[in-house]
Amino acid sequence: MLFKAVVLDLDGVLYRGENPIPGAREAVSKLRSLGLKVYFLTNNSTKTRADYVQKLSRMGIPAKEREVYTSALAAAHFLKERYKKGVAFVIGERGLKSELKASGFRIARSANEKIDFVVVGLDRSLTYEKLAHAQRAIREQNALFLATNADPTLPVEKGELPGSAAMVSAVSACTGRKPAFTFGKPNTFLLECILADAGCTPSELLVIGDRLATDIAVANKIGAYSVLVLTGATSKSQARNAKGILKPKKIINSIAEIGKVLC
Ligand SMILES: [Mg+2]
Repeated sequence: MLFKAVVLDLDGVLYRGENPIPGAREAVSKLRSLGLKVYFLTNNSTKTRADYVQKLSRMGIPAKEREVYTSALAAAHFLKERYKKGVAFVIGERGLKSELKASGFRIARSANEKIDFVVVGLDRSLTYEKLAHAQRAIREQNALFLATNADPTLPVEKGELPGSAAMVSAVSACTGRKPAFTFGKPNTFLLECILADAGCTPSELLVIGDRLATDIAVANKIGAYSVLVLTGATSKSQARNAKGILKPKKIINSIAEIGKVLC
């Protein structure tokens, strides 16, 4: 098959937490040597693109910041395109705040000033006070409520922790509102940005991921070639039983078997 670009999910595909998946480095280098444009796509909004470049390079995988797409970047792009500027209250971590600041948005410390946007992502220091500020900004100031992603859980080396959806649900519960936009996979927003950057059509795009409901769903929705690896969130039987939009075009044991997709 003739692919022009490849989108690689990170956790569960190239590494698990801090441990690289065996063969990941060689697979990325093979994809590059075949002339494919390589993109790294994660729903995680806690880190900056520079953090991911560093993490990948620690694992022997060279990457450039412009090849890394996160749900934090998506939120910042969207706001910049649509609103140009404004003040955001963030329930989220450094990656999200830094992308918003880099796009020219000011980050408010509380709802004691006029807030235009409440942007919610994974926040491992969530407090009652932050929720109260988000509630006030949305209910009293009519701030636009946006979510980076809707992942229910966060994979870690040993199991799972609460994901961004837990924070989004908390804000929804106390405001009676749903986010106006949720940017991460399975929303096609980031894949559309990648297609535009790569200058290719969906059928020329290969998407490799470990989750059916995010990676595979978004690839199938946009018409890209979806490949599931079994080194992450999905078991072999779950993969085989997947139906409709969740059904991968191809299942491989791990990224080390990338050759099976390319020939
Ligand atoms: Mg993953």
